[in-house]
Amino acid sequence: MMKEVVLATGNQGKVREFSKLLEGVFEKVISLKELDSPPEVIEDGVTFRDNALKKARELALYSGKLTLADDSGLEVDALNGEPGVYSARYSGKGATDESNIEKLLIELGDNSNRKARFVCVLALVDPNGEELVVEGFCEGEIMDEPRGEGGFGYDPVFYLPDRDLTMAEIGQEEKNKISHRSNALKQLKARLKT
Ligand code: IMP
Repeated sequence: MMKEVVLATGNQGKVREFSKLLEGVFEKVISLKELDSPPEVIEDGVTFRDNALKKARELALYSGKLTLADDSGLEVDALNGEPGVYSARYSGKGATDESNIEKLLIELGDNSNRKARFVCVLALVDPNGEELVVEGFCEGEIMDEPRGEGGFGYDPVFYLPDRDLTMAEIGQEEKNKISHRSNALKQLKARLKT
C-alpha cells in the first residue's frame, strides 16, 4: 500500500468521498486544510485534464508529496460538449446550481438530442515528476425539468435511463457506485496495481 497522498481539493464533501474510495490504496489521505497556506490554483485550462494536472503539479511542488487532483463537469452533446470545464460557472458570476440548471435548460430548449455525460479526470503527480492521468464517465440524458432532492450541481436534471430516475433521486450510495468520480477512481486503482 502506498503511504500518503495529498488531495488537492478544499471541498470537504469530496475529501470524504475520496477518502472512502481510496481505502486500501493509501495509508493516509491529507486534505488541503492540513497544509500550511497552500497556493490557490487558478483553473484556467480548456480541458478537464489541463485543470486536474495543473492543480496536482502545483500542489505536489508545494507539498513535496504525492498529490491527487480532480476536475469534473457535464458535457452535453447537442451543446458541443458545453458546459464542460465551465460547469460550475456556466450561468456567469454568482452562479448557483439552480441558475446553472436554468441556463442549461434554456440553451437546450426543445432539442430532441438530450444525450450527456458527467466526466471526471484524476491526475496523480509525484514531486519527482511522474504523472498518471485517468478519466471516468457516467452517461445519461438531460431532463426537461429538475426532479429529486439529492446530490448537487446538475444531478436533478441528469436522467439515468436504466433506472428511470435522476441522479438526484438514486441516493448517495447508488450514486457512488456509478458516478464519473467512482469510475475514474476504479481506473486509478487498476493502474496503480499494475
Ligand atoms: P469541480 O470538479 O468541483 O470543478 O466541479 C465542477 C462542476 O461540475 C460542479 O460545480 C457541478 O456543477 C458539476 N459536477 C461535477 N460533478 C457533478 C456531479 O456528480 N453531479 C452534478 N454536477 C456535477
